[in-house]
Amino acid sequence: MKKILLVVVVMFLIISLTGLSNSSDDRDVIFQTSTINALFKGLYDGNVTYKELKKYGDFGLGTFNSLDGEMIALNGKFYRIKADGKVYPVDDSMKTPFATVTFFEPDRTILIKNAMSFKKLQNHLDSLLPSNNIFYSIKIEGAFKYIKFRSVPRQEKTYLPLTDALKKETVFELNEIKGTAVGFRMPGYIKGLNVPGYHLHFITNDRKMGGHLLDCMIQEVRVEIDSSSGFYMNLPESAEFRKANFEKDNKFNLDKTEN
Ligand SMILES: [Zn+2]
Repeated sequence: MKKILLVVVVMFLIISLTGLSNSSDDRDVIFQTSTINALFKGLYDGNVTYKELKKYGDFGLGTFNSLDGEMIALNGKFYRIKADGKVYPVDDSMKTPFATVTFFEPDRTILIKNAMSFKKLQNHLDSLLPSNNIFYSIKIEGAFKYIKFRSVPRQEKTYLPLTDALKKETVFELNEIKGTAVGFRMPGYIKGLNVPGYHLHFITNDRKMGGHLLDCMIQEVRVEIDSSSGFYMNLPESAEFRKANFEKDNKFNLDKTEN
C-alpha cells in the first residue's frame, strides 16, 4: 500500500512539473502564447510569466504586459527593450501577452560576406530554404552597416489597438554596428496567429540597445537557421480573449505594423 502511494506521489510530481499542458520535452517545437490578432485587438495583458515561458525556449521574441517593451531572447538570456531603446533585465515574475520562443539548435549556417539590404537578405534566405511551408528560427549575427529598429511605450487602460499604439513608437537608427537579430520566418498561412514572413528583434553586441527590426543593411553576418515542423500555441485564459471578435481580416494591420 505504501509503495503504491509513493508511486502515485512521484507521478503527480512529474505531471505538475510540466507546467502548461504540453511538455517541453520536444525542443524542436516553436512555442507561442496568444495570437498576433489578440495584440491587434489591444489585448496587452497575458497570464504567462517569463518563468513559465523559459520552459519552452531559450530564444525568441515577444512583448510584455501593457505592451511595455520589446522582448528578445538569445542564448538563454531574456532582454526587455523599453521605449527609450535601452535594454533592461527581465524578471521571472513579469508576464507576456504575446511571445514566440524555441530551443535554438541550428541545422544550418550561412555566411554572408557582402553588403545586402534587408529585402535582398530575405530573398536570398528564401532561395536557400527547402520549403516555405515550415517554421524557421533565425539568428543573424555580425556587422551591420545600418539598422533601423523600434520600441513601444507602455500602454495605459483602456488599451488602444496595436496600430494606434504604434503611432507612438520610437524609432532608432544606427550605423556601423555589431549585433544580433533574432526571430522567425513563418509561412503565409500563419496569418492571424503570428507574423507571416520574417519577424526579427535586434540587440547590439554590448547588449545596450535594440528593438523590433524595421530595416537594415548587413555588412558581414553569420545566419543560423533552425527548421521546425512543430508549433504549439497556448491561448490566454482571460475574459477579454474569450469575448474578442477575431473574424475581421487583419491583413491591413499586419502589413502596416510588422512588415
Ligand atoms: Zn516585433
